Amino acid sequence: MPDRRCIVAVAAHAADMEFAAGATLLKHALGGWEAHIIQLTLGEKGHPRLSTEEYGAQKRREAEAACEVLRVRPHFLPYADGELAATDEVAREIAVLFRRLQPEAIIAHWRGSIHGDHLAAHHLARRAFFMATNPHFDLGVDLPRARWARTYCADNWEDAEGFEPYSYVDISQQVADWKRAFDSFAIGRGEGGYPYWDWYEARTRLHGIRIGVRHAQAFAVEEREKLQIRTEL
Ligand SMILES: [Zn+2]
Repeated sequence: MPDRRCIVAVAAHAADMEFAAGATLLKHALGGWEAHIIQLTLGEKGHPRLSTEEYGAQKRREAEAACEVLRVRPHFLPYADGELAATDEVAREIAVLFRRLQPEAIIAHWRGSIHGDHLAAHHLARRAFFMATNPHFDLGVDLPRARWARTYCADNWEDAEGFEPYSYVDISQQVADWKRAFDSFAIGRGEGGYPYWDWYEARTRLHGIRIGVRHAQAFAVEEREKLQIRTEL
């Protein structure tokens, strides 16, 4: 097992994880972890006038700039925005990255989403983790199986149905750089019409109040992640 620590976020679209988990990823990177985002699509169909080719290229440049600020390495997979499907073909590509990167923490989309790509991304992260950790899945690469990882689901504005914060990360010291990462994206600067920064900044302020700090990012977990084994209560 590698002695380095690694955290990997699995995003349906470039910008999803920079926005919903970027400050947390940066905090880990500053603490000596490797931080990665697997971008399943670029979100290239999200512009009212630019072609998918033009906007895809723009989103890629924006994500690269944001990830540089966040000290995150992005991995771009070649799937189409709006057409992401939870197939084993896609899951295998993510599973290979899990075996290569050996994350001990994974950040996924929450399953209660209004966006089909986000739903698919949630299931793909889980399926890929199962494939990566099971040594009997031949993924066509000479890599050891992935180690066990804790999975957290990010607080994304489109994934709000049934989202219950469970784990909180104090990101008060990372807010300024997180804002710079937002500003790398046209949509993060508000140019798409949706007030992304306002929503995310407000959410982290509310989560921060909940735990007594200035700003926090919050994550939901599946029931199985809530198991606690203690010698004393
Ligand atoms: Zn998205």
